[in-house]
Amino acid sequence: MQYRRLGSSGLQLSALSFGAWVTFGSQVGRGAARELVAAAWDHGINFFDNAEGYADGEAERVMGDVIADLRLPRDGYCVSSKVFFGSAKDARPTQRGLSRKHVHDACHGALSRLRVEHLDLFFCHRPDPDTPIEETVWAMDTLVRQGKVLYWGTSEWPAASIREAVRIARQHHLHAPTMEQPQYNLLHRERVELEYAPLYAESGLGTTIWSPLASGLLTGKYNDGIPADSRLGQEGYGWLQRMVLGDAQSGQVERARRFTALARELGVDPAPLAIAWCLSNPHVSTVLLGASRVEQLLQNLKALSLLERFDEMVWRRLEAATA
Ligand code: NDP
Repeated sequence: MQYRRLGSSGLQLSALSFGAWVTFGSQVGRGAARELVAAAWDHGINFFDNAEGYADGEAERVMGDVIADLRLPRDGYCVSSKVFFGSAKDARPTQRGLSRKHVHDACHGALSRLRVEHLDLFFCHRPDPDTPIEETVWAMDTLVRQGKVLYWGTSEWPAASIREAVRIARQHHLHAPTMEQPQYNLLHRERVELEYAPLYAESGLGTTIWSPLASGLLTGKYNDGIPADSRLGQEGYGWLQRMVLGDAQSGQVERARRFTALARELGVDPAPLAIAWCLSNPHVSTVLLGASRVEQLLQNLKALSLLERFDEMVWRRLEAATA
């Protein structure tokens, strides 16, 4: 495993990390979840990502149980949660968003579900137009000072809002956001490469990027339809299907087809190649992997050797093929 600093902080996360979205608490059972966390840990992964909203809190419960069951040393791994969407079905106004009230309650809920005394990373899962940024910055700073959160950050915030949070924190000598969690993959590049570009030097922003395979699209599994045993084949995921596959005009599937053809030409599996491309960006602190089976995780871990094997020329070819 390779380890990278989370932005300008001293925290070293594994370059490949593991997340629970869609899978834990819904798509896979506890046994499979345990095998996935064990395999990730055995291969040097030290960061496990979660959120209050994943399976209405159930993903955190499963992850907490599994990590406790595996007896992973608390100082050897990092675990995260995210606040915004709420964990209650039909959440009431105080049960979602980024108010001081909900940031406080969400943190305590996650601590209990994950069975830990502090969250290593805590993200504001989306911007909240109904809460002043200043209130959220103070609420996060309080949790850090109480030792309940070590590093806080944002997910899918516009650069201007992140900059504003940093400004407020500096003005009042509060803990500023350390990291952002954006989507980043060969089909979705703009925010990480352009919008956030000034923030890496300006505030030492780290990134824990999500959906490196565009929910599986870049494995080529959707090139000729939707397999029933895949994420997008699950009941209730029509919205994600529309988002990931787009319509004929969007050309998403066509771009994935061109990418998988190039992977074949290079003689490698598409999934680890797509992940290696993410790793080739030095502003990526860690690539969050998702997997519904151990074999997928093991294949994806090969991204590290592809990163060594291929160079800039190959990365530019992949970009041209998926443009
Ligand atoms: P990916 O884009 O890598 O998609 C993962 C899914 O793709 C797997 O669950 C599996 O689905 C399929 N897959 C993975 N590897 C392979 C393989 N080798 N061969 C075939 N199929 C494969 O990542 P995610 O979208 O899961 O994102 C990763 C993590 O990022 C999440 O778990 C979560 O922690 C975080 N995240 C954060 C968000 C945010 O807003 N902050 C939003 C989304 C994710 P299947 O087998 O079912 O087809």
